Amino acid sequence: MDGDHEPVAFLRGRKLLRRIDIVCSSTDSLPGELRRGEPLSDHTTIQVGGPAEGFFLPASKESLIEAIRTCREHGVPYFILGRGSNTLFSDSGYRGLVISTEHLASCTISDNYLLADSGVSLTALVSLANTHDSYCLDFLAGIPGSLGGAIAMNAGIKERSIGEIVKKVSVLTANGTLESIDGDACDFSYRTSSILKLRLPVLGARLFLDGKTYDRERLLSRRAATQPVGFPSAGCTFKNPIGPSAGELIERVGLKGFRVGMAKVSDIHANFIINLGGASSAEIRRIIDIARQKVYKSFHILLDLEIEVVDG
Ligand SMILES: Cc1cc2nc3c(=O)[nH]c(=O)nc-3n(C[C@H](O)[C@H](O)[C@H](O)COP(=O)(O)OP(=O)(O)OC[C@H]3O[C@@H](n4cnc5c(N)ncnc54)[C@H](O)[C@@H]3O)c2cc1C
Repeated sequence: MDGDHEPVAFLRGRKLLRRIDIVCSSTDSLPGELRRGEPLSDHTTIQVGGPAEGFFLPASKESLIEAIRTCREHGVPYFILGRGSNTLFSDSGYRGLVISTEHLASCTISDNYLLADSGVSLTALVSLANTHDSYCLDFLAGIPGSLGGAIAMNAGIKERSIGEIVKKVSVLTANGTLESIDGDACDFSYRTSSILKLRLPVLGARLFLDGKTYDRERLLSRRAATQPVGFPSAGCTFKNPIGPSAGELIERVGLKGFRVGMAKVSDIHANFIINLGGASSAEIRRIIDIARQKVYKSFHILLDLEIEVVDG
């Protein structure tokens, strides 16, 4: 959600109020927790990102809806954040309201359907399904995201993506109404969906638990052997193009292990950029730019970002 909001919008008494202040003051009265100047590095797996002007953790779906409506009414940009495992914020933070779904974590299973709020972690979903003797979500094990983020990104592994089992998604439409969309209508494709393209806030979803099973331990060992799991990262930086993978292309242009400040192309998987400790967003973006340029120069392939880069 980009756009800007001028520094001073209203005069109330003798106090000059900006639109973000008005939004924060209304949001503060909603069930949930509002923080000002919250460091986004505390809410992203790559541990990068400056302060958010407003950071809201709604305690209910109604509260989330109201916060979005308030932002829309006042023309203040907002960003829906799940677990921040696919997001790179800027060093200057976010001008507007970041709305975290972290506290929206209710989740139940009935018959072969799992009904969950958008903020439930994928780890919790996998565990709940397992307690009901269902192992079809095990392909999501080890992906550190939320249900909402996973649906928006159509998260998955090469064997399967979440879109294949999404039956219904509850979203807030652009005109402020709640709608339940069929999974088939979400245009799920490789790491994207119409939900992401249209920026529709996901409130919850219904997943179909089919009888498929996955060897979770094998999948987790594969992850541990091929990814830099011990370092903060945002997962794969680029989508894989047709042909050689993004990691392979980055490796072929000699960037495996390449470092800018405290950001580094992983020695284990060249499509991961890791934070060695205190890396800045600018350093990570510099690596992204260099990788793109070098790969394009050598192979005439323009790498498409998988991570979400959010401007300040
Ligand atoms: C170590 C590591 C391994 C990973 N492995 C994989 C993998 O194997 N496969 C894979 O697909 N991904 C992987 N990822 C990337 C990431 O975990 C997934 O894409 C995940 O689904 C993102 O979820 P999130 O809640 O963290 O999203 P966020 O980073 O919080 O958000 C990502 C995008 O989704 C949007 N979004 C979040 N919540 C909502 C909502 N409720 N409604 C609407 N939009 C929303 C955000 O606005 C943003 O555009 C990995 C990441 C890491 C760090």
